[in-house]
Amino acid sequence: MSDCLFCRILAGEVPSTEVHSTERTYAFRDINPGAPTHVLVIPRQHIENAATVEPDHGEVLAEMLVAARDIARAEGIHDRGYRLVFNVGEDTGNSVPHLHLHVIGGRKLGWPPG
Ligand code: AMP
Ligand code: ZN
Repeated sequence: MSDCLFCRILAGEVPSTEVHSTERTYAFRDINPGAPTHVLVIPRQHIENAATVEPDHGEVLAEMLVAARDIARAEGIHDRGYRLVFNVGEDTGNSVPHLHLHVIGGRKLGWPPG
């Protein structure tokens, strides 16, 4: 059994609320949402974080971005806008060592982020 939380979600060992699914990606609602829409898009393969991405991850990364756009459309936030975030490292509070793209929207989002 993997000790990676998001690998366990992918294996169905930890429950999640599915939002979207593709051959190489899976998306589910963040358990602690920071906005009306807060979805996490993850690769089905274990990649640690955005800093460990390599050129041969290109296909799965593109699929994550396409998934994010499709989710934004389905959530009704595509036209008003939304934020895509990869947290990397301690200063960002990055807490789960499995690459995940935050899709955040549904309200005005401040910039720069706090
Ligand atoms: P990060 O801080 O970028 O590592 O984001 C990790 C995110 O995963 C946080 O926003 C958490 O709220 C979220 N999270 C942690 N555990 C779960 C879970 N079991 N199901 C859904 N989201 C989770
Ligand atoms: Zn993992």
